[in-house]
Amino acid sequence: MTPSACYRGRFAPTPSGPLHFGSLVAALGSYLDARAAGGQWLVRIEDIDPPRCPQGADSIILRQLETFGLEWDEKVRWQHDRHEAYQQALEQLAAQGLAYPCSCSRKQWQAYAIYPGWCRDGLSDPDKPAAWRLRSDLARRPIIWQDRLFGYQQFDPADLGDVVLKRKDNLWAYQLAVVVDDAEQGITDVVRGLDLLDNTPWQRQLQIALTLPEPRYLHLPLVVTPEGQKLSKQNLAPALAEEADDVRRQLFQALQALDQTPPAELATEPPTSQLHWAVANWSVGRLTPSEHRFSP
Ligand code: GLU
Repeated sequence: MTPSACYRGRFAPTPSGPLHFGSLVAALGSYLDARAAGGQWLVRIEDIDPPRCPQGADSIILRQLETFGLEWDEKVRWQHDRHEAYQQALEQLAAQGLAYPCSCSRKQWQAYAIYPGWCRDGLSDPDKPAAWRLRSDLARRPIIWQDRLFGYQQFDPADLGDVVLKRKDNLWAYQLAVVVDDAEQGITDVVRGLDLLDNTPWQRQLQIALTLPEPRYLHLPLVVTPEGQKLSKQNLAPALAEEADDVRRQLFQALQALDQTPPAELATEPPTSQLHWAVANWSVGRLTPSEHRFSP
């Protein structure tokens, strides 16, 4: 890729626990894509949901990134102090008639695949706490984008439903926060796991409604267990090991998981040498657009 001073990428972990091998692959993919393009790579801690984020998990993640040699540019951004920016975006959507308060509970609409939009024209129960939702029936359709690995994507917003932007407990939802922050930080390239591809139509819908620029998207194949389960904190994926030998081995395996075919002798090299090789040789063309990679 031609070096470009205007590439800005990011790794945006939810600090629900330490990084595991799957998150290392996502971080490494976005890092390499940014560095190979001569661009900047930022880290944003997506801690909008405090009950899911144990205290100190953010510092562990930052330390792990440093241990693996993944150095970021600029100051780390935390979402917990971005309330005003999210509120402003929500008000802008509400003023356009695209966001509405909703007092329905999941239980009330459990017979439906997606929320049927009962509160679109007024709260069904004004005495109950309300969430805020995005109107999918008024979105420009279809929602399209070109994924750099998975190609042309097309979704009908009506099939996806009215996503929550702000929860009843006043916590911000991921879709709104990620779009506002990606735009505010001038992110040109979103490189992340395939598990987030399904969220992209809502993010594109929000970018269009808020007249924000469209970043390029590259969704990376997911790392799964031999049983086909996604590595995640919920299914107890182990945290990355941080002894020097383990770091070298896991970084090498992460390069393999990204189909970069690193030469065998690189496996015992320290992170700086492995990353040096990987930036110089990074090729998105080597990635195969399959859903899974097995965890080593
Ligand atoms: N915070 C999200 C996660 O950890 C990722 C957000 C993104 O990359 O868009 O799953």
